[in-house]
Order: sequence, then C-alpha cells, then structure tokens
Amino acid sequence: MNKTVQEILSQSDFSREDLMTLLLSEGDDRKHLFEEAHNIKKANVGLKTYFRGLLEFSNICAKNCYYCGIRRSNGKVDRYFLTEEEVLSQVKYAIDNQYASIVLQSGERTDKKFTSQVTSLLKRIAELNEHRELGVTLSMGEQSEEVYREWFEAGANRYLIRIEASNPELYNRLHPHDKIHDYDRRLEAIRLLQKVGYQTGTGVMIGLPFQSITDLADDLLFMKENDIDMVGMGPYIEHHDTPLYQYKDSLMPQKDRYDLSLKMVAILRIMMKDINIAATTAMQTIDPLGREKAIKAGANVIMPNLTPVKYREGYLLYEDKPCLDEEAEECKTCLEARIAMSGDEIGYGETGTSLHYQRRMNKK
Ligand code: SAH
Ligand code: SF4
Repeated sequence: MNKTVQEILSQSDFSREDLMTLLLSEGDDRKHLFEEAHNIKKANVGLKTYFRGLLEFSNICAKNCYYCGIRRSNGKVDRYFLTEEEVLSQVKYAIDNQYASIVLQSGERTDKKFTSQVTSLLKRIAELNEHRELGVTLSMGEQSEEVYREWFEAGANRYLIRIEASNPELYNRLHPHDKIHDYDRRLEAIRLLQKVGYQTGTGVMIGLPFQSITDLADDLLFMKENDIDMVGMGPYIEHHDTPLYQYKDSLMPQKDRYDLSLKMVAILRIMMKDINIAATTAMQTIDPLGREKAIKAGANVIMPNLTPVKYREGYLLYEDKPCLDEEAEECKTCLEARIAMSGDEIGYGETGTSLHYQRRMNKK
C-alpha cells in the first residue's frame, strides 16, 4: 500500500518514491508539507533571510545552452561587460547596506584575458571588503582547478554552478553535444570547487521539456548525495530566441512549474536542514508573491539585483524577468517589505555562511 504524506514526513530519509509522493501532494497534504518545512527552517537556520546582491557583470558567453536567452548564437543580444568602477561602486553599496554577500554572475568564458580580469577585480573587491563582512560568490560556469584556486586566493569564497538537470540523458537534450557542454565536466566542476574549499552551490531548472517527476525526485537526491552547501533552483521559463522554444506547447502551465518549484524548496529544506536555499527571481517571474511564499516554505536567501539598470535588458536569460527598471535602493525597500510579509527578519550585517558548510569543514 502507498504511504501517506504524514507517514513519509515522519521518516528521517526519503526514497525516490517518497519524494515523488511529496512532489505530487495536493490539498491538506501539500499544506502539511509546507508547514513542516517552515518548522524545520525555524528550528535549524532560524526565521532569517539573507541578502545576496546580484551583479550580472557580463552577458558575453562562449556556450550555447538550448534554454538560455544570452547563449552565444543569439545575435539579438547587445553584449556588455561592466567596468571595474561600476562593479566596485555596487560592491560598496552592498557593504554600506550590510548585505550578507554579493554574487558576480556572467556568461561562461575560459580565456586568459577574462580569468585575469576577474582575478584583478576580486583583488580590488577584497580591498573594499577588508573586514570580510561580505561573502563573495562567483557564478561563472566551468573553469579549471587552477582558475578556481586563483579566484579563491584573490578573495572569492562561494561558487554557484547549477547542474541544471542531474539526469545525464536529460542534460544532453538541453545542451549541444560537444566538449564544452558535457555533463561529466559540469559534475567535475562541483567536485573541484568543493576540493578547493568554496562554499558550493548548485541547482536545477524545474518544468523543463522532457523532464519527469522522477527526474525531479532524483535532483533532490543529487543535492544530498553531493553534500551541497547552497541551492538555487527555480522554474524553467521559455525564451523565444532559443532552440528549446519549439517545445513550448508541451510544457506544463507556468503556475504548475511554480508550484513544483515551491515543493522542491520545501522538500529540500526538510532533507537538508542546515543549507542555504535561495528564493529565486524566476519564481517571482511566475507568481508576484513567488519569493515570499518560497521564504515561508524554507528558503533563506534572496538575491536583490544590483546590476545597473541600463544593462538589465541585456541579461534576459528568460522572458518576463521582473524588476527590469528598479535601481538597488528601490529594490531593497521592496524586498524589505516582502520579507516582513513572510514573517522573517533580514540577516543584516552577517555573512550568512551556510551552516552546512561550517559543519562540513569542521569534519575534515
Ligand atoms: N553562465 C553561468 C551563470 C549564468 S546562467 C552558468 O551557466 O552557470 C545562470 C543560470 O540561469 C543557469 O544556471 C540556468 O539554470 C538559469 N537559466 C538560464 N536560462 C534559463 C531559463 N530559460 N529559465 C530559467 N532559468 C534559466
Ligand atoms: Fe551561457 Fe550560462 Fe546561459 Fe549557458 S546558462 S548559455 S553558460 S549564460
């Protein structure tokens, strides 16, 4: 006989089948799942949300992921690269406003010119951040161990690299088949980052073409098996200038993708009590209260956009990305109100280091 949601939630470990039952829960069962996740968040990481200021510092990308609006072959995008001064002024804003961390995100490039530019930028950020009050996160795709080390030594201490889809067959349907779009290389990047000493984050997209509920259950098991410190995951949102757009009619409705994303957050919080989980911008794209609901359901990180407004049109990974016209200050006020609505306080003046990471390093 199938187990009930109540029975599953009373266990300490979940099988793939248990996870599928939770992902498909409706009505009171669904409500119960969210309540449990909220209680676990409160007991383990507290009702606190950390600000991670996002700087989308370049949209130049050497890759051609089938889902992404800034992929190399999209000729309609005006490419940009923020100047050092533009980045530093936003970093200063984050420090002055007691943000927990910043994320420098860009398209993937492995050329020496780019990697050295990032190193010198990190060194200048370290000068501003001399008291180490700000966590410095990178999200720049797959690099060599040497480059990860160089950036770590220059002051970066966290790295986000989504596995995108933990099923290699699904991964292959979302990417070109060549050396730079290789599942094993992506997986290896996660291992290298952990080896070098980064707080390591990963994540997946939810509601992708060809993706099943089994795949999503396995994605959750993947995060646990790989001892991940931080997770950012959210709904896949189609973009008309990408190859995956042709499958748009086969997708589940956006609101169902959103609901599944919310359940993924809640279940992951129950499975991995001490990690950091982001309430992602893609969740807000579908539901105006998307991030608030995610915070209630277990997320504890939110990513205010610090990219100067004039560049934001150039960083449309997917359609209808929200807040295209809000400068950092407006964004902050808006988020403060939103977080208060969710019942959390903001972790101002704390770096919000993943407790899981601290425990993982202490075990070594
Ligand atoms: N180039 C880096 C970082 C920038 S892309 C990298 O790929 O790792 C950041 C994330 O945006 C990706 O990991 C992907 O999960 C997400 N993304 C891209 N296109 C998307 C889409 N159409 N819908 C939802 N998320 C998308
Ligand atoms: Fe480039 Fe990242 Fe977009 Fe892939 S997801 S095309 S690597 S920016």
